[in-house]
This record gives sequence, C-alpha cells and structure tokens, in this order.
Amino acid sequence: MDFYSTRGDGPISGAQAVINGIAKDGGLYVPSSFPPISKEDIEDMIDLDYQERSAYIMSLYLTDFTYEELLEYTKKAYAKFEDQDPSPITKVDEKTYIMELWHGPTLAFKDVALTVLPYLLIGSKQKKGNNSKTLILVATSGDTGKAALEGFKDVEGTEIIVFYPQNGVSDMQKLQMQTTEGNNVNVIGIDGNFDDAQTAVKSVFNNKEIIAKLNEKGYELSSANSINFGRLVPQVVYYISSYVDLVANGEIENGDEINFVVPCGNFGNILAAYYAKRMGIPVKQLIVASNKNNVLTEFFSTGIYDSNRDFYKTMSPSMDILISSNLERLLYEIMDRNPQKIKELMTELKESGYYTIDEEILNNDYSEFLAYFTTEKETLLCIDNFFDEYGYLLDTHTAVAVSAYLKYLNDTLDDDTPTVIVSTANPYKFPQDVYKAVSKSEEQDAQKAVKKLFLATGLEIPKQISELKTKEVLHTTSIAKEDIELAVLNILLEGK
Ligand SMILES: *Cc1c(COP(=O)(O)O)cnc(C)c1O
Repeated sequence: MDFYSTRGDGPISGAQAVINGIAKDGGLYVPSSFPPISKEDIEDMIDLDYQERSAYIMSLYLTDFTYEELLEYTKKAYAKFEDQDPSPITKVDEKTYIMELWHGPTLAFKDVALTVLPYLLIGSKQKKGNNSKTLILVATSGDTGKAALEGFKDVEGTEIIVFYPQNGVSDMQKLQMQTTEGNNVNVIGIDGNFDDAQTAVKSVFNNKEIIAKLNEKGYELSSANSINFGRLVPQVVYYISSYVDLVANGEIENGDEINFVVPCGNFGNILAAYYAKRMGIPVKQLIVASNKNNVLTEFFSTGIYDSNRDFYKTMSPSMDILISSNLERLLYEIMDRNPQKIKELMTELKESGYYTIDEEILNNDYSEFLAYFTTEKETLLCIDNFFDEYGYLLDTHTAVAVSAYLKYLNDTLDDDTPTVIVSTANPYKFPQDVYKAVSKSEEQDAQKAVKKLFLATGLEIPKQISELKTKEVLHTTSIAKEDIELAVLNILLEGK
C-alpha cells in the first residue's frame, strides 16, 4: 500500500509515513485506497481476539509489516490494558451500546493507538535501516500528552516533548503528565490553548533551520498526534471490532447498519470510523459530537469552516479545539483526492482562518455525517440523568456524545438503528465536574472530589488516579507560546 500527502507529496510506504509523521508539504499522509472488508471477513473475525483482529486490519494498510510482526506489537501493547481488552462494549438499552476505550494505562481512548505507536515506529525504522534517533513532538489538549508519554518513556532511540495548554487541561490530566518518570521525557506548559500548541508544533516540522540542527545532532522529528497515520490505523480497528462483536453476540445480523456517535476534537477518532465505513463496515450515520467549541457543527450543517470565533474552555477540555487537523483527510476524500484543492483550502485556513465548501458537495458527500453540539449545562444534566436512569457514570466528553445522540433521536423520530456511542475517558479524570453533575455540589480539590464521587456513585477508583497522590511532580516548566521552537532546540542542543 502506498501513501500520499493530502497536499500532493508521495508515494511513500506506510513505514515511512509513520517515521515522518507529517509530510514535508504540510499535508497528512493518506492510504492510496481503502482495503475492502467483506461480509465473510467479518464472519471470519468472530473467532479472532482483539489483538489478532488488530494485526489483521493493520496489515492491510501497513504492508511493510507481516501479520506476525504486527501481532507481536498488538499483544505487547494491549497487555497494558485491563483484561487485555481495549474496547469492551456495554449495552445500555435495546439499541444503544457504549464502547469504553479507556481501560488503558492513562484512562483515555488515546491509549488504544499510543500503546502500539512506539512499536510501529521502532519497527518502521528497522525496516528502513534508519539509525537516527527520533524526537517526538506532541501538542496535547490533555489526554494525548500522557498517553504519548506512557507509550514512549524510556523507549530507546527516542526523546519526547509534550506541550500542553497550562490553563486548559483538567487538574488530573496535568498531574498525570507532570508526574511521568523516564529519562527521555519533557513536559512543558504553554500560555496558550491547544490550537496554539498544535500550530507551533506543526511549524517546527516545516522549519528547515531547526530540522538541520536536529539532524546534526542525529535526530529526526516525528509526531505522536493523530496527524501520524500510525495513530489512525489502530483506531480503525475498534470500529470494525465492535461491529464484529455485535454480530458475534447476536445483537445484529451481519450486514445490518449501525450508527457511531463520537465526541470530537481533532477529528481523528471519527475519521477512523469513516475509514472503517469506507472499508465496508455497514455504517448508516456518523454523528459528530462537539462541545461549545462548535466549529465542526457549523461546518457539517453549512459548509462553512470558521475558526475565527471565541475559544471556550469547557469541562471537556480534550475537545477544546478550533482547528481540527484530521478534517483535512476527509476533505481529501470528498474533493476526489485532488491535492491542489486541499492546498487552496488549507492556505485559506492558514491565512484567514476560514474556508467554505460548495453546498452541492455538502449535501451529497457529507450526508453520512450529522453534527450536534452540547452546551456545558446540557453536559452536566446528561451525566446526572444517565446515572439516574442507567446507573452508568459518563465522563464529561462521553456525555457530550450522549447528549448529541439524544438530539439526533429527537430529529429522526427515534431512529431505531443500533448505535454505538464511543466513550473516550474514565470519569475520574474529571472528578470535580462529574461530581458536580451527580451531586449538584462543588468540590474544587481534585483528590477530594475523587473520594466524594466514589461515595456518591460507588464506581471503582482506578489505581492510576489514586496513586497520583503519592507521586512526585517532576515537570513544572512553562513557557510563552512563541518560545516553543526555542524550547525544542534547547532541550536537544543543551543535551539533557
Ligand atoms: C482526544 C479526545 C477526544 C477527541 O478526539 P479526536 O480524535 O481529537 O477528535 C475526545 N475525548 C477525549 C477524552 C479525548 O481525549
């Protein structure tokens, strides 16, 4: 399988796409085609465990690797999950299922891909005879940072730097990052938001001067953000695997359509659902859920992408994003894979923060996407109601998705298509807000809120949360957002 940049570069192999992270022309790597999954393939996957399904599906894209190599990676990666199962499904009513993607080391869905990515990266470098060290640059809205740190800490031949918005992540998210051990990890707060961090990190990738200096030191840059194809492909797996599970458990017939509802930020998670659909999984509707930062909601209903709007800090911080990078990969498919057109749109976005799509394209090609957004008030109410009704505790991000789904049901007069709601984080990562939702009282202290939330709900406290109390805070550096490039140079040149 060949890979191309959405802006024209290529072809290159999958292994090289993982090594590069982002293309030199600023585009994102995409596969030259979507390998088909047939009804028989779905039937055959019933007898495979998740690790095997994952290796099989990834082998269709990453053809530099053998199935056995990929299986070794997925076995090692998913041994780090509770019960070795990265995507258990809970049935909440006759047609509604919740896929919990947060049983990994850092309690967020990012673990599903970021536990595998280091193996893919090291393996790719071996395939290509590449002996450089790799500097992983990460911009995080909260969860990618910790998941990438856990994935890459102490991985030989790598150094990782995570930039997070100093005042834009939850207390737990920040503490999780700041307490990371490992001799190759750097965690830096910036005085900007996620978009600032992501834009600055992307500009390092395009900065020839910095890259030359890094190369001199024996380093190459790569990315652990969802702009890296190596992040995307492990995410495609759980959409396919959940379909196989529903067939295996007799919840649906092989061939029946289902919906997916996904809480969105950088658009990586739902893009993976779109890829699964393009491969042949029968998906009726992809429901794009956003919080008050509703740039995607407007885009999918009007064709106008307008990032010139107020940026809100919400209780679902991992979705506080106005520039959703992975939308570029969807645009590429919808614009008939025309890199020239993508270049034009992305130049407009960079220069004016704005672009529009023809209404005709919107009505024809985007009809499989429907977008809704959820206000802060609705998020709290949703957590409370859902707990009352089902005894199931949602985190703030998943609540945005559930609330969007309820609006969808209202609009479609109760569409009875079986629906999988993607749950992206454990509620204890956001204890103050979740506690406020279920108890209507406030507790500002994160650890106290954890205790109170446990008393109010009985939901088991994960050890990743309880052990934070005793961990030493190791990383407290913070910088101005203009200094990100400088910080990268300092870390490498002053040879820590
Ligand atoms: C990252 C994240 C999201 C958004 O996912 P994208 O792939 O960026 O769209 C949603 N919820 C949680 C908890 C996350 O960590």
